[in-house]
Amino acid sequence: MMEKNTPMIFERSKAGRKAYSLPESDIPTFNLADELPSHLNREEAARLPEVSELDLMRHYTALANKNFGLETGFYPLGSCTMKYNPKINEDIARFDGFANIHPLQPAKTAQGALQLMFELQEYLKEITGMDAVTLQSAAGAQGEWTALLIFKAFHQANGDGETRKKMLIPDSAHGTNPATAAICGFDIVEIKSNKNGTISVDALRDAVGPDTAGLMLTNPNTLGLFESDILEISQIVHDAGGLLYYDGANSNAILSKVTPGLMEFDAVHLNLHKTFSTPHGGGGPGSGPVGVKDFLKPFLPVPQVEKNGDIYSLNSDFPQSIGRVKGYYGNFGVNVRAYAYIRTMGPLGLKQVTEDAVLNANYLKVRLQDYFDTPYPQVCKHEFVLSGKRQKKQGASTRDMAKRLLDYGFYAPTVYFPLIVEESLMIEPTETESKETLDAFADAMIEIAQTVASEPEVITSAPHETSVRRLDETLAARKPKVTYAFGE
Ligand SMILES: *Cc1c(COP(=O)(O)O)cnc(C)c1O
Repeated sequence: MMEKNTPMIFERSKAGRKAYSLPESDIPTFNLADELPSHLNREEAARLPEVSELDLMRHYTALANKNFGLETGFYPLGSCTMKYNPKINEDIARFDGFANIHPLQPAKTAQGALQLMFELQEYLKEITGMDAVTLQSAAGAQGEWTALLIFKAFHQANGDGETRKKMLIPDSAHGTNPATAAICGFDIVEIKSNKNGTISVDALRDAVGPDTAGLMLTNPNTLGLFESDILEISQIVHDAGGLLYYDGANSNAILSKVTPGLMEFDAVHLNLHKTFSTPHGGGGPGSGPVGVKDFLKPFLPVPQVEKNGDIYSLNSDFPQSIGRVKGYYGNFGVNVRAYAYIRTMGPLGLKQVTEDAVLNANYLKVRLQDYFDTPYPQVCKHEFVLSGKRQKKQGASTRDMAKRLLDYGFYAPTVYFPLIVEESLMIEPTETESKETLDAFADAMIEIAQTVASEPEVITSAPHETSVRRLDETLAARKPKVTYAFGE
């Protein structure tokens, strides 16, 4: 049995126990304390835990067992693709020649790494329908920022920098979109969705003008719905002199089917750590490459990876560039995984990704739509959004149902986003789950809906089976206890 409350490693400590002993050093030592300024020396020994190897292993295994990840169970977190990532890509990213290179190594000694980056850029150009790609940005949000700085530099180069201040963003957008626009100094204009959950073309037409800098959009949008008016939308923005930015964080609904380039977008970012085989959610590292059409290429960040004959190099000689957006390419391992993933899948494999992601989402939606309010009942792409309005009236909120799901061994879907759906539950099964898993999840959701109707208090007091029950999340965020007080 797993202990419910795993003690701190300090509480397991017994003086003199050792998990590992270093051999006697045969190198003459000097006394560090004599070398350092006296105010830097500690006055008493550090209170490090003293435990045996077995205690140490059990401690960390117990902590690891409390973690929920894809290797534990289903993870239907909409708008943040969390799919199974083939372990072979992890192995390849750990190859010595990839893992042990140094950022300041001369380019001629890192040709293989540069070749991989160059070829990955080429694949991503094809996948996005763009003319040039940079691998500099280390996350989706940083990719958005990079792209909007490029838009800004373009408008400035045209003498429009002072007038084109408005960034149009639909009300269903991911929160990073308005945050990015704000941090780049744009004024945000929210574009309302219509009753079908897609952008209102009339509202867009009313919003554009000589002050339009651009539109940030994802397609399919965060409701999992494809903007079928996309060519009209891009025409309206372009006619007004604005640029179109595609949020491609979750691209598993379009791979090998359609590209942002074909939809007339001018720039796009991808999240390699969502769609292309790097697990995410642990805070990094990620990779948010940005692709642009030819006319924006001079503004890309430097250095750019180039190929001349058989020689690969890093070139910083782009006078109109927005500059560096990141120190080095320390997130290189993410690129390696994406490269290995794209090469092993091939265009047909990527097409299957899309078809399976869309099929799985629609299957789950149909299984659940009689039990929950479904504000947008049409066929969805890779994800769909339900509303817990009906259950809220019966006495249990979406938050309560999300907590109850934990008792069934599932991670909760994204909740309360997108903001335009009341009590929203945003579900993305991804392409990598079996029918059995989808059915088990659907059965749990249906049982929860039925329990809300008969015994809502079972749901409102959930979770019952987890090692930690309901926390005061606000208190935990505002006043986190991050130090251990000895003797308490
Ligand atoms: C995850 C996500 C982002 C942000 O990506 P990060 O790497 O977390 O910065 C942006 N847009 C959408 C739609 C996303 O799902």
